Amino acid sequence: MNDIVNIEEEIRPYKEKIEDIVLHNQEKVLDAFQNQNVADRHFHSETGYGYDDEGRDTLEGVYAEIFGAEDALVRPQLVSGTHAISTAFFGVLRPGDELLYVTGEPYDTLREVIEPAGDGADHGSLHDFGISYRALPLKEGAVDAERFREVITSRTKMVAIQRSKGYADRPSFTIEDIEGVVKEIKAVKPDAIVFVDNCYGEFVEKAEPLEAGADLIAGSLIKNPGGGIVRTGGYIAGRKELITACAHRLTAPGLGKEMGATLSVLQEMYQGIFIAPHVVGEALKGAVYTAKYLDSYGFRTKPFYDEYRTDLIQTVYFDNAEQMVDFCREIQKASPVNAFALPEPGPLPGYDSDVIMAAGTFIQGASLELTADGPLRPPYMAFVQGGLTAEHVKIAVRRAVDAVTS
Ligand SMILES: *Cc1c(COP(=O)(O)O)cnc(C)c1O
Repeated sequence: MNDIVNIEEEIRPYKEKIEDIVLHNQEKVLDAFQNQNVADRHFHSETGYGYDDEGRDTLEGVYAEIFGAEDALVRPQLVSGTHAISTAFFGVLRPGDELLYVTGEPYDTLREVIEPAGDGADHGSLHDFGISYRALPLKEGAVDAERFREVITSRTKMVAIQRSKGYADRPSFTIEDIEGVVKEIKAVKPDAIVFVDNCYGEFVEKAEPLEAGADLIAGSLIKNPGGGIVRTGGYIAGRKELITACAHRLTAPGLGKEMGATLSVLQEMYQGIFIAPHVVGEALKGAVYTAKYLDSYGFRTKPFYDEYRTDLIQTVYFDNAEQMVDFCREIQKASPVNAFALPEPGPLPGYDSDVIMAAGTFIQGASLELTADGPLRPPYMAFVQGGLTAEHVKIAVRRAVDAVTS
């Protein structure tokens, strides 16, 4: 058994930094609620077409203010982060335009939004609509701004940045990094629309990508901004004309933002964004603990416990597949829901090796709740993230390490 008191001492300064960020973001959210005059009547939705859904419109005002946007779409009809991002692409891009990712290849689930699937099937991807795509590979883990002049052309209407590494083996990009990249993009093409995939990033830092010069962001409400309680939904925020374009894509051309009943989810959406800064802080404290605790047992962790963070993802490297499977199984056993389930490695589309996934969450697929997963191939990386309470992460991680090292 390692010296737990010592671990607590060593991570204390980093927990205090997280608390400072939580305090800042909590005040930002509180101010937005007050400035938008949120009232309890806003928790009830219209029905049918959803015209004059005042609760929905006010919530979108709250999101816009929090994220430094002119306007926002916050909807249960956005079924996931991928759907929100896809809506942003199809809302803004037109045949003949090009989408350029400057942070390397994007998150797995966006593949088929952009191009035909591996088996050649095209379900109406950007490619199918004559919208081309390029990804600029990272250079030593950083955006290769020196090549912007070569790769940005007159057709490059949208330049995309993925803030979080997602499940890739590369660093995540901080708000400061994003600010630098946006400046370089705009210097080459001032009218380029800079889109940031903000998934996993919300409230991890004091500022958000729009404040760093981006034009449009999107994310999922079963990740950070849902505070762990929102059961479904996504958001898009940014410049007004872009949000209008996305709204006409989400509903139908000509209908736009005015339609879409929110039914029973409004109250949890308000409550979720209100508690989100705190819950994100809990997950981050859990991640710092995970990094330090595993390090003390000789496992490599990334980011390291003392590193600055811009997202929730904690990578832990195991020596072999067996260790990784045992660890993930123990995380499952320490879950509040489905603790009795035994995760088995299995195939997953987009991966060439089996993947193990531990998730005993209240909301299906929620990643602000504690989960652990990863592909079973060297370098045996498990992604451990989320946690509604830092204490739960601590208990689960201690048990899992015990099981792996005993
Ligand atoms: C989770 C995630 C997505 C996709 O979100 P889903 O809700 O799973 O569709 C996209 N990009 C990044 C970086 C993510 O972490």
